[in-house]
Amino acid sequence: MSLLNEILSFNQKFVSEKQYEQFITTKFPDKKIVILTCMDARLFELLPKAMNFKNGDVKIVKSAGAVINHPFGGIMRSLLVAVYELNAEEIYIIGHYDCGMGAIQPQEMMQKMINRGITHDTINMLNYSGVKLTDWLRGFEDVHESVRHSVDMVRNHPLLVKEVAVHGLVIDPATGRLEVVE
Ligand SMILES: [Zn+2]
Repeated sequence: MSLLNEILSFNQKFVSEKQYEQFITTKFPDKKIVILTCMDARLFELLPKAMNFKNGDVKIVKSAGAVINHPFGGIMRSLLVAVYELNAEEIYIIGHYDCGMGAIQPQEMMQKMINRGITHDTINMLNYSGVKLTDWLRGFEDVHESVRHSVDMVRNHPLLVKEVAVHGLVIDPATGRLEVVE
C-alpha cells in the first residue's frame, strides 16, 4: 500500500470518528501572532509546544531556513496577509541551530540535480537567462545573522506599518530552548 493510501484510509477514520472536534477554531490567530520558521521536521510539534501554542493560536509560515528570499516573494506576501487580513499584530522570525540551509552547498545541490537527469543545457539556459542558481540556492553561514537580516527586511518593508512588532529568535531543535536575537 502506498503512503497516500495509508494516509487516506487513516483520514476516513479521523473524519468519521470526529477526531477533528478538538481542533475546531477560526482562521484568525487567537494570539494575533504570525511566525516565520523553518520547514525542519523536528520543529513540527516541538516549536508550538515549546512556545505554548495550540491549534488556532498563531499563523505559521514556513520556508527552508526561515529565509525570506525576496521582499516581494510569497513568504513576505504571506506575512502581509497575516497582518492585514488576519489581524496579526506581531511577527516572529524563528531560525534554528543545525539548520539544513546552513549546510547547503549550491554546487553540490546542482550536481545532485544533474545526477537525477536535469541537463547541463537547462542549467546553462537558466544562467544565461539571468537566474544566478548558485546565489538562489545559497543558504547561510550564521543563523543569528540570517535571522537579523530577515528581521531587518520585514521591519523596513515599505508595506509594513511600524506598529507591527518584528522579533527575531533562534530555537534549539533538540530542547526547544528559545534565544532572542532581535
Ligand atoms: Zn532549518
